[in-house]
Amino acid sequence: MFQYIIDEIFYEVKKLDLKGKQAEYIPELAKVSPEKFAVSLFDLSGNTYEAGDTNDKFSLQSIAKVFAFTMAYRIKGKEIFRRVGVEPSGNPFNSLMQLEQENGFPRNPLINAGALAVCDVLIDELKHPERQLLEFIRLIAQNQHITFNNSVYLSEKETGYRNRALINLMKSFGTIHNSTEKVLDLYYKLCSVEMNTGELAKTFSLYANEGNIYGTNKQILTKSQTKRTNAIMQTCGFYDEAGEFTFRVGLPGKSGVGGGIAAVHPGKYAVAVWSPLLNRKGNSVKGMKILELLTTKLGWSIF
Ligand code: GLU
Repeated sequence: MFQYIIDEIFYEVKKLDLKGKQAEYIPELAKVSPEKFAVSLFDLSGNTYEAGDTNDKFSLQSIAKVFAFTMAYRIKGKEIFRRVGVEPSGNPFNSLMQLEQENGFPRNPLINAGALAVCDVLIDELKHPERQLLEFIRLIAQNQHITFNNSVYLSEKETGYRNRALINLMKSFGTIHNSTEKVLDLYYKLCSVEMNTGELAKTFSLYANEGNIYGTNKQILTKSQTKRTNAIMQTCGFYDEAGEFTFRVGLPGKSGVGGGIAAVHPGKYAVAVWSPLLNRKGNSVKGMKILELLTTKLGWSIF
């Protein structure tokens, strides 16, 4: 059934002439072909169903913030919420305004300010933050080949003026402990991690599977922590379009400016889509459409 629906919705969306733009503020992302389009669904019986450019890897960008948060939550437990909140921002992902008004305390771990604070926590807690974060992502992906994309990392490092401003603002309020350079470096490495849609869907199955890595007995988050992580994705995972995504798709998930979206139906499946064409809010236009069709055609709902 899944393969039939995946093929059907893939071709349905491909036919629509949906418009969008690559993320031009990161020069390396602007070079990705606008035609790329892929979808993969991983169910909790271990099967993958997919269509399109599923061999191509893309940089996860903000989707990877979920993995950094997962690692920090696993280490710190609920203490992590002393460093980041759980409220949707209703603002663009890189907004400075709210951070200034709220004394440098980031609204949630999935906006840039929150993810930078999470990276700061990881630097405090880990001996080799970059290596250990990558090892953690490889562990939950069950794939030793996952790695950073160096050109994307360098491209963003060169042009990330706003992220530098966000950290410096937080530093002025005392909410970041480590040097701006150290935190930015880990954050850009994180954003440049790349996967294809099949790898991403499988990695995200953690959140559909009560915090357990599929096919292993490794519990990464407790059942309650997984529920809370999904709740944060549901309310904060799509920049200032989290309401729209919930309204149209109805699943917890996270998007990235690389054009990827990963989402889960707890207890059933994880799905990843990729098309670099973004709408004005920074979410993949085809990605949102295909997920809307998926949940409509499946007729299953978490609500
Ligand atoms: N690396 C990107 C940035 O910091 C991530 C943005 C995103 O995917 O939302 O601007």
